[in-house]
Amino acid sequence: MEKYSKVIKSLALDLAKIPSIVGTVGEIDIANKVYERLSVLEYFKKNQQNLKLVDVKNDSLGRKYVLATIKPENKVSDTVLLLGHIDTVGIEDYGDLKNFATEPKSLKKRLKDKKFSSEIEEDIDSDNWIFGRGIFDMKMGVAALMTMVEEFSKRRHEIQANLVFIAVPDEEGNSVGMLSAVRDLAAMSEAVGWQFIAAIDTDYMTGLYAGDDKKYVYIGTVGKLLPCFYVYGKETHVGEAFHGFDANLLASEIMKQVDLNHELCDIADGEVTLPPISLYQRDLKTEYSVQTVNAVNIYFNYATHISPPDKVIEKLKEKAVQAFDNTIQKLDQGYKKFCEMSGIPYNRLPWQTKVLTFEELYRRVRAEKPDIEQRVNRMVEQMLEQNIDDREFTLRIVQEVHRHYSDKSPLVVLYYAPPYYPHNFVKGESERERRLLSAVEAAVKDAKKVYDYTIVVKKFYPYISDLSYCNIPQGEKSLSKLIKNMPAWSKKYSLPVEAIQKISMPVVNIGPYGKDAHKLTERVSISYSLDAMPLILKNTIENLVISNQVF
Ligand SMILES: [Zn+2]
Repeated sequence: MEKYSKVIKSLALDLAKIPSIVGTVGEIDIANKVYERLSVLEYFKKNQQNLKLVDVKNDSLGRKYVLATIKPENKVSDTVLLLGHIDTVGIEDYGDLKNFATEPKSLKKRLKDKKFSSEIEEDIDSDNWIFGRGIFDMKMGVAALMTMVEEFSKRRHEIQANLVFIAVPDEEGNSVGMLSAVRDLAAMSEAVGWQFIAAIDTDYMTGLYAGDDKKYVYIGTVGKLLPCFYVYGKETHVGEAFHGFDANLLASEIMKQVDLNHELCDIADGEVTLPPISLYQRDLKTEYSVQTVNAVNIYFNYATHISPPDKVIEKLKEKAVQAFDNTIQKLDQGYKKFCEMSGIPYNRLPWQTKVLTFEELYRRVRAEKPDIEQRVNRMVEQMLEQNIDDREFTLRIVQEVHRHYSDKSPLVVLYYAPPYYPHNFVKGESERERRLLSAVEAAVKDAKKVYDYTIVVKKFYPYISDLSYCNIPQGEKSLSKLIKNMPAWSKKYSLPVEAIQKISMPVVNIGPYGKDAHKLTERVSISYSLDAMPLILKNTIENLVISNQVF
């Protein structure tokens, strides 16, 4: 693999030197750089129409992505997508070393003056590690893909599938680069008859627990949902505490039922997601007063391997019902005790469990107020003029709909806020899936003959990435449940569902090895990343586009 390691390393360093923080013009600079580097290749000199800098749709920053296509000599429909992101996260974490964040050599020198754990200090002193913002996530990976583009552009006579390479911005933000590319790819596949058989990403890969130095190749990817709860209680004066229904108490019970609850881990092929984890819990009272809290908003990061949005909302509804029942029981028992202690007559408290999805709430409100849609739209128009966070935007719609509901008893409304990242589960049911599974497995097997790493093939790339947009549930039901329960859908947020369904393909991530992505000690290991990883990558591509195996 020496053939590639030098080229990939120097290209990765060149790319790392261009600051390309998400949301800055640096993303345009780096797209230009990738384009420039590919444009000197013989194949693209002769076939200029196959290399493009494409505008990201409706992007106020004017960002671009690179699209390079290598076509075999004979026209074919099978197409493999190579995909990488060229943006990085910010550099504030480097503090006083900010100016060196994208200068790997100088950065390493300066890091020597700082105190770190012994593991990090050893890596700083070792020649095996390159430090720098973006070098690991994922400029090394982009350099590897570009090297493969060069390699296979010289082997057109051998390949039996199209190779399409995209280098996209905004992966660390809202994936507008990928989503824009997906629309173009869907249109192209329709126009020229491409059939996408697989996507190969080379985003970062790291140990899964402290001391884990295994190397992982992932066929498929985790997904993510953002389920939210609008918890509405009944306010009261603190002097009449038992007359109200404390939204804070109910919210805490929901938190207990959902947060890090292993029963909500999503399991497929024996691989387990992390349980949901709370990202937000806040009451909606804006001032101090002796009136109790009547509304709380909570949301969770919810990882998925197999459950579509309709299943997730079902599971969470059960948890919310349980939380509501528990809260009523606790309140009632407490009240009974209080009455006994105080010598006043006890009457059962009037509360009843009520949990609705946004879709259910909306249907009820529309039956009472047929003009609810117009009311919401007017509000949306005003909100769009301000710069409101997607979660807040969503909550305000939920509150507006609930405001028009005649039933003002305590209630939990369950809904989704953006973003949505579909999972990609490569079961091996279709011919394409089997083709990718065996291409990767054979590639890894061959690499193991040459190198001594413990390389493990797993099913789900565990970090949220653009890979999610290579596939979306095809079934009517699960997506319509998502859309009907995501109030911001088509108002402020949407996904190109039809385009994703059109290109829908199994995915693999063959990443370089490193540590501490998104931290100031972000670093990539030369061993594995510059020997076994490029070999697995090359073998996988060869197995997909050259060998004529039957699956
Ligand atoms: Zn990344």
